[in-house]
Formats: sequence, structure tokens, C-alpha cells
Amino acid sequence: MAAKDYKIATLGSHTALQILKGARDEGFETIAVCTPQMAPVYKNFRAADKFIEISSVKDFFSVEEQLIRENAILIPHASLITYLNLDAIERMRVMYYGNKKILRWESDRLLERKLLQNAGLKLPRIFDSPAGIDRPVIVKFYGAKGGKGYFVVKNEKEFEEKMKQETTGEQYIIQEYIVGVPLYAHYFYSRMSSELEIMGFDKRYESNVDSIGRIAAKDQMNLNLETSYNIVGNIPVVVRESLLPQIFSMGTETVKAAEDAGGLFGPFCLEMIITPQLDFYVFELSARIVAGTNPYIAHSPYTYVRYNEPMSTGRRIAREIREAIAADRLDEILG
Ligand code: ATP
Repeated sequence: MAAKDYKIATLGSHTALQILKGARDEGFETIAVCTPQMAPVYKNFRAADKFIEISSVKDFFSVEEQLIRENAILIPHASLITYLNLDAIERMRVMYYGNKKILRWESDRLLERKLLQNAGLKLPRIFDSPAGIDRPVIVKFYGAKGGKGYFVVKNEKEFEEKMKQETTGEQYIIQEYIVGVPLYAHYFYSRMSSELEIMGFDKRYESNVDSIGRIAAKDQMNLNLETSYNIVGNIPVVVRESLLPQIFSMGTETVKAAEDAGGLFGPFCLEMIITPQLDFYVFELSARIVAGTNPYIAHSPYTYVRYNEPMSTGRRIAREIREAIAADRLDEILG
């Protein structure tokens, strides 16, 4: 079979614009599965060859049979994975790009930590009990979408004060707060070429934390502000070129460590804070395409150098699929 015998499908949300555009640029017919709220947007952009509507993301399975008939390969992204649960994703029968097994590692903070530790990466310390807090910590609630309700304290007393206002009963972790700059590194590990690529970098634009500095410290105090990390968008970053060797090596070690979890391939992201001493602390692994690649729908500085033609992460996925089809190795990149 050739690429023309397959279609590329995704859920209309998150990184769908670059996934669909990239697939089309690689010669695939495309399908956008959209809710009524999102459909007009993707139609307006002429983003796909075909649009299939579902009343809500939870109804995704109602169109699975149709996607199978179309011989579609589904490209997952965070919106799909967040709205459907892991069991549902594991049961999915439509062709699925990527490793389903790693989703369990990624969604379980302890397993994720083990993987990152096995990769030899520096991680922020975790405090088992508030009594041990001896430095600034960030308290993260498990179900907190977009970091809502996270808070920063520096000792047990402050922690207890803050917890008095906490009513959800949600599980949390107490993590060392790293003072530095956040950086999200986007990688692509190709199973076809066994090569790791750096696709780009971003930082997030989060409300209100990214605007608190716009008012004087005394006004911040007066307003009695609570910091929140609700993501609004992504800002491109180009790193100091001398940092690239370390960033490559962190990616390579992560791919090696992920062999225990069934392998990490395709796009992934290391989310980190870099201190003034240039120590890289990784606080999260995303084992899939991240929204931080969206600014590079044409190309990033890095993909432009390597490919000398438009190459987004979405298109890179489609190219990998095209090459896998041509080499009769598609099963190696489907979950
Ligand atoms: P995601 O959407 O990636 O699953 P999230 O929105 O639930 O994650 P995080 O990404 O873990 O939350 O963190 C939210 C914000 O807090 C980010 O801006 C991040 O830079 C910052 N942050 C997270 N962990 C730390 C840490 N240990 N030290 C300093 N800042 C941190």
C-alpha cells in the first residue's frame, strides 16, 4: 500500500491545524473530527479534506468505525488524551500513531519520575510531608487544569495556612520550587532513522503569573493576588546555541530510559526550569506533540536548517508515517 491509501485524522483541537496541514503537505487526505463548537473554525481555515462532527469529545467512539473504514491513522494530542480516559485509548481499534503504553507512565507522577531519574536528569525534590519543607516549594494538585490552585510556600506554617482555604480534597504533591526560567524542549525521535531531532522550544504565556510583574510590588501586595498558571498561549524561544549539546543529550537519555516503558518515539517534550547556574531541572515529560510546537507551523529555526523546507512537528509526524508505509514498517510506529 502507498500513502494515498491512508488518511490522517485528528480531533479538531490543540495542535490539529499543524497536524492536518502537515499531513496534507505530505500528500495524505485528511479528516478533522470536530465538536460543533470547533467545526466552524477548522472549516474556515479549510484545514481538512473531510469534517466529521461529534456532539462532544466523549462521543469520539461513535465515529471510530467510520475512521476504520476510511483507513485513517489517528494522531493523538493532549486534548484527545485528556478527554478520553486511558482505558478508552488503550481499547481504541482505529490505527493510532505512537506508543499507547507510555501514556500510563506519563500520567502517573511516580512512574514518570522514575523514567526521568533513570535518564539521569535532575529533578526538583519531592517532599513527602509538609514538616520537611525547608525551601520554597510549589504545591501541585493532581486534577488542576492549567495549574489552577497551585501555590508557592516556604515552610510548613505557610503550607498549613494555604491548605485551610483548600476545599476540593484533591491529591497533591509538594515539589521544590526551582527559581529560574521555564523552557519546553520539543524533540522528535524517529524510529525510521533511529535519530533524535530537536524541533524547537517554547515558553508558556500563563495568566496571571506572566502579568503580575506589570504592576509594582506594593500594588501586588495591596491587591492580595493569588498566582495562577492558566495557559493562554505559547511563545517561541531560541536557546543559546552552546546549550544544544546538553539538550540533545537529555533527549537521548530519555529515549534510552523509556525503553522500559515500551519505547518513546515521535514527538515528545521535556518541561524544565533552568537556573542561573545553568542547571536543568525537568519537572515533566510529555510523550506526544505539545502545543508549544504551534508557533512553528511553517518551521522552527532548527527544522529550517535541517530540512530547508517547511517542517512543523505535525508534518514531521506525517513524513515518518509516509516513510514507514513505503518501508512496510508502519506497525513499528502504531500503538
Ligand atoms: P501540564 O499542562 O503540562 O500537564 P500543568 O499546567 O498542570 O502541566 P505544570 O506544567 O506542572 O502544570 O506547571 C505549571 C507552571 O508552574 C509552569 O509555568 C511551570 O513553569 C511552573 N512550575 C512547575 N513546576 C515548577 C517547579 N518545580 N519550580 C518552578 N516552577 C514550576
